[in-house]
This record gives sequence, C-alpha cells and structure tokens, in this order.
Amino acid sequence: MSDVVIHQVRPTKVLFTQGIMQSLTQVQWVEQTDTSTYVVTEKTPFHPVSHIWPDHPADKGFLVFNGKQYTVTDCVTGAFDIENSKLYKGTDIPVKRGEPGWYFVVLHELELDMALNINDAVELVVDARYQTALSRGHSAGHLASYALNKVLEQGYWRKDASRKDVLNNRDFHSYAQTLSLVSENKSTDSYRLGKTLKKRGLNVAEILADLSLIEARVNDVLATWLATNASVVMKCEGDTLTDSRFWCCDLGIGESITMPCGGSHVQSLTEYKDITIELTFKSDQELEMITKAN
Ligand SMILES: [Zn+2]
Repeated sequence: MSDVVIHQVRPTKVLFTQGIMQSLTQVQWVEQTDTSTYVVTEKTPFHPVSHIWPDHPADKGFLVFNGKQYTVTDCVTGAFDIENSKLYKGTDIPVKRGEPGWYFVVLHELELDMALNINDAVELVVDARYQTALSRGHSAGHLASYALNKVLEQGYWRKDASRKDVLNNRDFHSYAQTLSLVSENKSTDSYRLGKTLKKRGLNVAEILADLSLIEARVNDVLATWLATNASVVMKCEGDTLTDSRFWCCDLGIGESITMPCGGSHVQSLTEYKDITIELTFKSDQELEMITKAN
C-alpha cells in the first residue's frame, strides 16, 4: 500500500463512554487474514475486548456499507506500528499503551468476503440490547465489590491493611480477586482466600461460617445504594482507547466512588430494579461472588 494510505491511521476515537451506539465514520485501514477482514475506522461506538484485562466481552453489531449490513464477528484492541505500518491484534501487541511510534486502535473483525477500501464511508451499529446488558452487569459488579468490602470491614479483619478502597474499607476485593467476568446482566468475581490473606489478618474461618449472613448484608447495602438513584458518570481524559477513563458514582452521605475502568456502563442506578449477590465456596480457598442485575 502507498504512503498516503499509511498516514491515514490515527488512534481510534471511542464513543461507547458517551452511550452512543451508532456512528457514521471513515475506514482508515483494512487488512485480510486467511479467515477474516479487520477494519479500523476513525471512530467507533464498539467496545473492544481489552488485551490486558479481558473481563468485558466485545460488543456485537454490524457495519453498513453501500446499504448492505455486515456482521461484526468480534472486536478487539489493536496496536499500529507507525514506522513499519504493521498492525498487531489483541494479545500479539508487543508494547504498552503510550509507547512512542504506536497508535492503539479498535479492530472490527468481519467475514472474509468483505470488500472495503481506505476512506470508504461506513456506518457502525452496536447491538444496543447486548451492550446495555453488559453495561448493567459491569456496573453492578463494581457496586457489589465495594459492598462486599464494606460488609467484611465489620469484624472480618483482625489487623489493619494498608490497601483501602475509595470508601476507606480494607480492600478485600483488590487483595483477593483472581478473575472477573462480565456477562449479560451479570458479573462473576473469583477470590482466593489463601495463606497470604490470612496472614494479612483476614478471618477466613469466620467468613466461611457466616457466608449467608455476609451475603444478606451485602444485598442490604446494595439495596440502600440503589435507593439513592445516583448517577453513574464516565470521566474520560480524552477520546481515544488509551486515555484514562474513570467510573464515578456519588452515592451521597460521604460515599463517592471513583475508579479507573475501561468498560461500558449504565448512566444511572435508576436503570436497576435490584442488584443481588450470591456467595459460594468453590473450594476451601476459592470464593465466588455472582452479581445479578435486574
Ligand atoms: Zn470496570
């Protein structure tokens, strides 16, 4: 491809943080592999799965070109090596964000038979029902983790811990979390309650004994928080993929949460009827919290 083409690629502007679900845009780069066509556009309403923390799945939807709809089969983070005009996908990305000479982009994966050219005008349309269900699951998971920290703060630690969450509770979630997965109206968090946490002062035996009590208390906290009808605001330091983004929810009465997060989210707690959790010990060291949003 010519130099003119190479210089078209810029960091993709992301729109999912603003609740925008469709957008007219221009094609900046097209690349075909044996199985797929990858398309980079100037901006996109699609949330790509992160190559570093892939807890929030890619959006579904389609691309419209010349009046025809093409399914976007996947959407991942990409990085473009400007000097060598080479595109890297997902876990193949060899650099950290902010690396000079590299642009981070959103890669829309389409079927192989897609014939597109640089500068073509296309429309990208996100499956709104699916994105909304993921957003509800993701925001609910954040609230549940803070509610769990808050409940465990009451009597389940025998020592102070240096790591506190933004509500000034000892940060069980951050110390113990091994895995998180967002799905439709649901968030699943896995926690490891190993030797290190016991040494830090977590009363693991008491947690095991009180599991249903803890579950009920967390659900009470969540109900209280939902009753505030608080807004959820995404604060973005810029409109590209690598700009820092923060999930902010001011619950009032001194409880205000701001945390870094790159996912898509609800705009208000009024979007929920309720949020409830279930706690299960999967083994003597592995605790699972399932958060469900209604
Ligand atoms: Zn998040």
